[in-house]
Amino acid sequence: MELNSMTQKKLKEIINDYGEKSFRAEQIFRYFHQHDGEDILEIGQIPLDLRKRISLEYTVNKIKVLHKFESKVDGTVKYLFLLPDGNIIESVVMSYSHGYSQCISTQVGCKMGCSFCASTKGGLVRNLTAAEMANQVYEAEKDLGIRISNIVLMGSGEPLDNYDNVVDFFAIINSKLGRNISLRNITLSTCGIVPEIYKLAEENLPITLSISLHSPFDEKREEIMPIARKHKLKELMEALRYYIDKTNRRITFEYTLIKGTNDSEKEAREISRLLDGMLAHVNLIPLNPISEYKEGRPDRDHVLSFQSMLKKFGVATTVRREMGGDISASCGQLRRSVLDEEK
Ligand code: SAH
Repeated sequence: MELNSMTQKKLKEIINDYGEKSFRAEQIFRYFHQHDGEDILEIGQIPLDLRKRISLEYTVNKIKVLHKFESKVDGTVKYLFLLPDGNIIESVVMSYSHGYSQCISTQVGCKMGCSFCASTKGGLVRNLTAAEMANQVYEAEKDLGIRISNIVLMGSGEPLDNYDNVVDFFAIINSKLGRNISLRNITLSTCGIVPEIYKLAEENLPITLSISLHSPFDEKREEIMPIARKHKLKELMEALRYYIDKTNRRITFEYTLIKGTNDSEKEAREISRLLDGMLAHVNLIPLNPISEYKEGRPDRDHVLSFQSMLKKFGVATTVRREMGGDISASCGQLRRSVLDEEK
């Protein structure tokens, strides 16, 4: 078990089980999450025999920068990280006027099978641990000499398919004894796993929940996203209304625009009907074409006209600024290209 994947609460329980006082747990937590420590035996404040006992029972997760790609266009930096078991994940750091935002992965691969997404093409390999999520942030900060202020769970993986570790990661990254990143600055993006949305509503966390919509019609959505066969839009929207009731947070929707597939007035109209009366915002993402998916992206003018239709129908939207286009900084493309090269 990874010591740096544990929340303060879990560490406390472990330390108490050793018959030690709770402040020891705080010292250990700080060592990993404030001081970027990586070796249990090095925690000088802890008595040596306790350090030794812990290090026999627990491991520490470490990840390494395998490759770093810097965009010449906008300063976006993309990392490929090497995990202890040899797996590779990717993460992107983007610089905005309000600070640095990082897109992190939550799984190695993904089992959701969305047709246009590179992350899912090799299936799910495994969940990331909480430490592996936090370490993506710590390694990027160390490498760039910066502090990350915003985190989006939009790298490879489906966060709600790795629920417990993701919620532990939130507690760790938000802790005052660690990075103290506000939950309000964290966005969790999901393809819409309904039971998990209800569960998350009960946690009542002030994160932003973002739903990958991609079509306001069940039939079309099922073509694009297999999860839609399991949870129809009616069921999904009911869950989202419940979520908003519970948390009082606005929900954002992601809508990948695919040429000739989901980008006509018919869709704009239906999106507005679907979101009517709801606290919502739609982010439009022009498709990043991948070789495994034959459809293309609409041109810029069409994207803007789709956006104005939505506005006309009363839906608040933005077009996602595209970052790091010259380093294939999107959606699992980099990891796939490296795995293909290895083959
Ligand atoms: N599994 C989560 C988060 C990962 S993907 C989810 O489904 O939301 C983050 C967003 O990028 C999702 O909206 C996803 O549909 C979108 N996306 C994935 N591949 C894409 C591509 N090739 N072009 C445009 N958007 C893509």
